[in-house]
Amino acid sequence: MNKFNSSKKIIIIWDFDGAIGQINSTLPYNFNFESLEKEISNVEYILDKLDEYNIKTCFAITGFSAENGKFPYVFPDLIKKISDRGHEIASHSWRHEWIPLFTNDQINKSLKRSKMSLEKALNFSKEVVGFVPPHNRPMTWLMKGAISLGDRGIFPFFKLGDTSQLIKLLLINNYKWVRISHNNIFQKFNFLKRNITGKIYKYKNIFILENHYTGFDDRVIKHILETNHSTYTISAHPLMLSLENKIESKINFENFLKKITESNQQIEFILPSNLLL
Ligand SMILES: [Zn+2]
Repeated sequence: MNKFNSSKKIIIIWDFDGAIGQINSTLPYNFNFESLEKEISNVEYILDKLDEYNIKTCFAITGFSAENGKFPYVFPDLIKKISDRGHEIASHSWRHEWIPLFTNDQINKSLKRSKMSLEKALNFSKEVVGFVPPHNRPMTWLMKGAISLGDRGIFPFFKLGDTSQLIKLLLINNYKWVRISHNNIFQKFNFLKRNITGKIYKYKNIFILENHYTGFDDRVIKHILETNHSTYTISAHPLMLSLENKIESKINFENFLKKITESNQQIEFILPSNLLL
């Protein structure tokens, strides 16, 4: 990125889980058909809202959701529609795995198959080059001094408990960017004043979108307007737009779009894959 280019860039990434994601989320026995319908109708709402502002974003989608089958358990046509309206499609794994608990071979297959099924849903018109790990795991990245005890599968007992291992597999499968969550010990204790929406940098042959911010509240609006970082990464879940009084609520999302676009600052919304240009 050109640091002399003064415009600020915002990347929005939606974690679009689908039915398989809901089944494999932290409360796997809470499947709810209404939530599934709500998630999809919120995606339609997001697409219309973003069109109003002419903003393009990224949707990270579980690969299984791109398979042929019955709507709304799978939705390849919707995935194609999202892409046709100018948004980027990234992989959110094959079936929303808690990565540290799986073997190398399983995650390798998840990366391969999700990329393939999503690209097939796009009629192979676009390549899927981004990966958004489900549950934001692993959060441990030893090389960066980041250790998380919340990973359930802890390195070295679980190989994929360390982000370096995940990155190896991403490189093998031709992914070009990944969203990573971790706190090193300094950030944990807030010794470093940092970009709360994370930094973006190249590591080996892949772009790391680090420590994104979840949601659209006043805190992040203020952060974007009052600081001068080159990039800001924000994540959200379509389903969460329906929850009032949450950071990801619809009211906050609309307020975010309005305040950011009405500010007189040079702010641009970009896709993660634009980083590769
Ligand atoms: Zn997810």
